[in-house]
Amino acid sequence: MDKEFIIRFENEVRETIRKHSLVNKKDRVVVACSGGKDSTTTLYLLKKFGYSVEGLIIDLLMGEWSEKNLENTRQFCRNHGIKLHVINLRDVMGCSICYVRSGIQSKEKLGNCTICGVIKRWLLNKNARELGADRIATGHNLDDEAETVLMNIFTGNPNMGRGLGPTTGVSDDKFVERIKPLYFHTNDEIRRYSKEMGFPVLYEPCPCSIGSFRRNVRRWIAVLEESNPGIRMNIANNFLRISGVLRKEAKNNVIMHCEVCGEPSRNGLCKRCRLMEIMK
Ligand code: AMP
Ligand code: ZN
Repeated sequence: MDKEFIIRFENEVRETIRKHSLVNKKDRVVVACSGGKDSTTTLYLLKKFGYSVEGLIIDLLMGEWSEKNLENTRQFCRNHGIKLHVINLRDVMGCSICYVRSGIQSKEKLGNCTICGVIKRWLLNKNARELGADRIATGHNLDDEAETVLMNIFTGNPNMGRGLGPTTGVSDDKFVERIKPLYFHTNDEIRRYSKEMGFPVLYEPCPCSIGSFRRNVRRWIAVLEESNPGIRMNIANNFLRISGVLRKEAKNNVIMHCEVCGEPSRNGLCKRCRLMEIMK
C-alpha cells in the first residue's frame, strides 16, 4: 500500500472541504452513490473525517450494470455502518431509465446522459430534502468539471454552469446545496486511491454513455493534457474566478418553483417536467 499517496490524497480532500467551507460537523449529509469509485471515495472520506453521512442510490434498472452497482454499494455501506437509502426507478417512474430515454428520444433528439442527468438531479434533490439533508455530496471530480465547463462553452449554454464549482451556492428552501469534495482531484488519482483502498467498485464507464458528447470532450482534454500538463486544473480554476460574477448575476434571477411539480427550477417548467411532457 502506498501510504504516502493515501495520506496526501486524504489531506488534500480535507483541505478542499475546509477551504471552500463545504460542510459542518452538525450538517446531515446525503451522499449520492452511483456505486462507482468517485462517490464511494466521497462517502468513505466524509465518514472517516467524522461527518454525519447517509448514502442514497437511485436504482436506474439498467440490467446487470445497475444490479452490480447496487450490490457493491450495499456491501460497502454494510461494512462501514452507513445507512443506505435506495430509490427504485420503477417505484417513482414506473419503468427503467432505458424506457424513459427511448420514450423521449423517439420524439426529441436528446443524449442519454442529458436525460439521465436531469432525472437523477431531480430525484436526488427531492429525496435528500425529504430525508432532512443539509447537503448532498456527489463524486464529481476535476475531469468532470473541466469537461462541463468546456461543454457549456461549446454548446453556448446561457447559464454557463452557474451551479458548477465545489458548491452549488444556491439558496432556496427547496434546494439542497450540492457539494463536491473531490473537485480538485483527477479521475486517475481517485482510481488509484480507490484501488489502493480495495473499494468494491466497477471501473468501467456507464454502458449508456458510449458516443456521448462528454466522452468526446474527455478524450480531447486527455490529448491536450498530455502535452500541457495541468490544463484540467487551469480550466477549473479559471472557471472559479469568473463563477463569482455569474452567481452575482444569478442572484437577480429569483429561483422559481416548477408549476407542475413544485421543485426548484430556473424556468416555469422544470427540466424533468419538460421531459415528462415530451414523453406523454
Ligand atoms: P455521473 O452523472 O454518472 O457522472 O455521476 C456524477 C455523480 O452523480 C456521481 O459521482 C454520484 O455522486 C451521483 N450519481 C450518479 N449516478 C447515481 C445514482 N444512480 N444514484 C445516486 N447518485 C448518483
Ligand atoms: Zn417540475
